[in-house]
Amino acid sequence: MKTHVRVLVIGGGVVGVSTLYHLTRKGWKDVALIERTELTAGSTWHAAGLLPLFNMSYTVGQLHKYSVDLYKRLPQETGQDVSFHVSGNLRLATCRERMDEYQKYCGTANTIGVPFELISPQRVKELWPLLELGGTAETPAIIGALYHPDDGHIAPADLTMALRKGARAGGAEIYEHTEAQSIARTNGGEWRVSTPKGEITAEHLVFATGNYARQTGRLIGLNVPAIPVEHQYIVYDESPELKSYRQAGGRELAVLRESDQSYYLREERLGWILGPYEKGAPARFADGVPDWFGRSLFPGDLDRLVPHVEAATRRVPALENCGIKDIVNGPISYTPDGSPLIGPAWGVRNVWLNEGHSFGITAAGGSGWQLAEWITAGEPGIDMLAVDPRRFGAYTSKRYVVKKNEETYRNVFTVHFPDEERAEARPAKTSPVYDRLKAMGAVFGQRYGWERANWFAPAGAAARDEWSFRRSNYFAHVGREVRLMRERVGVIDLTPFTKHEVTGPGAEAWLDRLVANKVPSRVGRMALSHALTERGGIRSEFTITKLADERFYVVSAGAAERYDGDYLEKALPQDGSVRLRNITNARGTFVVAGPNSRAVLGALTDTPLDNESFPWLTAHTIEAALAVDVYALRVNFVGSLGWELHFPIEYAHNLFDALFEAGAPHGIGMVGMRAMESLRMEKSYRMWGSDLTVDYTPFEASLDRFVRMKKGDFIGRAALERQLAAGVPNRFVTLEVHGVTDADPLGNEPLFDKAGRMVGRATSGYYGHHVKKSLAIGYVRAECAAVGTPLSILILGEKKQATVVAESPYDPENAELRA
Ligand SMILES: Cc1cc2nc3c(=O)[nH]c(=O)nc-3n(C[C@H](O)[C@H](O)[C@H](O)COP(=O)(O)OP(=O)(O)OC[C@H]3O[C@@H](n4cnc5c(N)ncnc54)[C@H](O)[C@@H]3O)c2cc1C
Repeated sequence: MKTHVRVLVIGGGVVGVSTLYHLTRKGWKDVALIERTELTAGSTWHAAGLLPLFNMSYTVGQLHKYSVDLYKRLPQETGQDVSFHVSGNLRLATCRERMDEYQKYCGTANTIGVPFELISPQRVKELWPLLELGGTAETPAIIGALYHPDDGHIAPADLTMALRKGARAGGAEIYEHTEAQSIARTNGGEWRVSTPKGEITAEHLVFATGNYARQTGRLIGLNVPAIPVEHQYIVYDESPELKSYRQAGGRELAVLRESDQSYYLREERLGWILGPYEKGAPARFADGVPDWFGRSLFPGDLDRLVPHVEAATRRVPALENCGIKDIVNGPISYTPDGSPLIGPAWGVRNVWLNEGHSFGITAAGGSGWQLAEWITAGEPGIDMLAVDPRRFGAYTSKRYVVKKNEETYRNVFTVHFPDEERAEARPAKTSPVYDRLKAMGAVFGQRYGWERANWFAPAGAAARDEWSFRRSNYFAHVGREVRLMRERVGVIDLTPFTKHEVTGPGAEAWLDRLVANKVPSRVGRMALSHALTERGGIRSEFTITKLADERFYVVSAGAAERYDGDYLEKALPQDGSVRLRNITNARGTFVVAGPNSRAVLGALTDTPLDNESFPWLTAHTIEAALAVDVYALRVNFVGSLGWELHFPIEYAHNLFDALFEAGAPHGIGMVGMRAMESLRMEKSYRMWGSDLTVDYTPFEASLDRFVRMKKGDFIGRAALERQLAAGVPNRFVTLEVHGVTDADPLGNEPLFDKAGRMVGRATSGYYGHHVKKSLAIGYVRAECAAVGTPLSILILGEKKQATVVAESPYDPENAELRA
């Protein structure tokens, strides 16, 4: 066994071996993998081998597509067959919401380039003659289906062996029966891993340990939010009907998914594999996998399976005539949102996670591809935020993860509405004014563990969502909140914001190198700033305020606490000239905005708020009501006159009550996150994470005014220079979408030019309740970005006409902000 390698992968399931393979494809030959027993001994050996291309996430969809393409060429490349049956994949719909979901997915699939067809019930019957189209209460009629002709199923162990062959051919070594038992950091900053066969030191570690993620994470002090859940499938004996169909020359039937009954069904030799996602499947191994488990399975739980077996048998009566050969019940790794953890670990250097895979056979190729890119090039090739391990934070306690993972598992097949908010593990983190907001009719959602008011139900209206892909029960109420903000004065509780304090003699120079904008050099000034990757993509957005000499207040998205915190922490200079403090939970944030906001805030403070004393884009530390040390920033994300108040958290009640008391004569009211979405769309404000990602540079995002190429060097500058020289390929646009009466754009819709060519994608959209227009924002090829360009946008299967309009449909001159 080698004693030193550049990268050591821990875990020999399909995911670890794929990572190893892709590292060698990047030319890194000095790499090795250790596996505690034998390759595939974890969850990989018993997986059903399905490779669904379907995924609502833009990122995960790209990873799956890469995998399917790779698996097709692997046999030729490695000489190892992988038994890839390209049988196609059919997802049935029996209700309109399901069809809406498929239509929404089709927008994403179009932008990724995944081939699919939406087909009629007749075509379903042609493709799947053994199925009943239904039409009874128990077996509802099929109204259509989503068909992926290109995917199917594969033999997971053969796939792993092909990747192993490829990795070995590329120079990698694999050591079986070599468990990582302890891990220590060397003085030189490398990782020393102890195994029963001796020690091996590595520059980089990759954890790909499947169900063991929690205990391997603990070896270096990480609390990894991946806990497996039981998942079972039934293997049936030979089916006489299937046999005669195949003997008569019928082609292999597509993998069938009846989402509304939560099961999948595929051919297995001349029988079937039926896999349900049942209610009540328990999480397992929350404290780690016990020694006795090894290659084992759990006993089958027929009671949980029965409702799905009955539903499947009604749909495919041939199931009635075949016996059950086996029930496979194994642990399947899950995370609280169902997506894997691919990317850097937080708080430690050169440790990478490829964990938490619930569709690991499907995702192995793509995850290995991007993780290898990230390790070897320092950044991934596509936006990986949706799977970045740092999208979760310290709130992922064991109980939280157990509850969420069980919930995610039982909802695998439910309709994934864009406004869906799941109920488990809530409320977890609450702002101090949570109870007050609740009493005011707040309908909450959860983000990064925080309860956030999405909208407020007035007296008499039911305080609950009816989730939909279309305008729903809260549409009018959100409209009322938007008008409140634009016409009078509204308050938004943005306490979850991520807040850092950066101090020290080196603070300014350090921040200035991190971001593309000029960091404010005058006390009381602020700057919207973007931290870029070396390739010039946008990785973070910070509002940086200079509070005093050598003291900066850095605010970013609430969901970016760990993502940004980890980045800042790792980027700190070693000489002690800069100190970083995460003060997220020490301060609350209220936005007070609208034409009457000056009058309301003015009643609470002696600090003059007139334009001359307190202009737009400046900050003062003020007293407000009984609160002291309040950072008042004259900036907001809604585009009206207003302030963000960042106050010591202990004053939350006092400040909130004082605002409402002073605001009563001015018509003050609460405004939720959905109204904020509408308000920011009217101002073309880009949202980090959806509109601003590493996929686009600030020039593509038309944020040129926030880039100071002449200020000196900063991370990503060289790439921006190259892009300017070569020409900026895409531009950010605002679109007015015409003829929308029901389904507004929400993001991830493809955009087409007059000739019908796809020229870009919307990254967000919403109805602008004040400007009374359906709006989308997104990226198009530069030549389509001129104001007035007619385009079209595909929304739930309907092509709507759209026109590129000038930025900021509401108040383009920013007169309100400067008022
Ligand atoms: C019943 C069932 C059906 C499934 N069907 C499908 C399907 O159809 N399609 C699909 O895409 N996915 C499916 N899955 C999920 C799929 O099996 C997993 O997502 C996938 O196998 C995960 O691969 P992995 O490499 O991450 O983990 P694993 O295969 O579990 O591999 C992890 C490896 O790490 C090793 N290890 C752990 N700790 C250490 C250590 N300290 N030192 C060294 N090695 C260590 C383990 O021994 C293990 O071999 C199914 C899962 C189940 C349970």
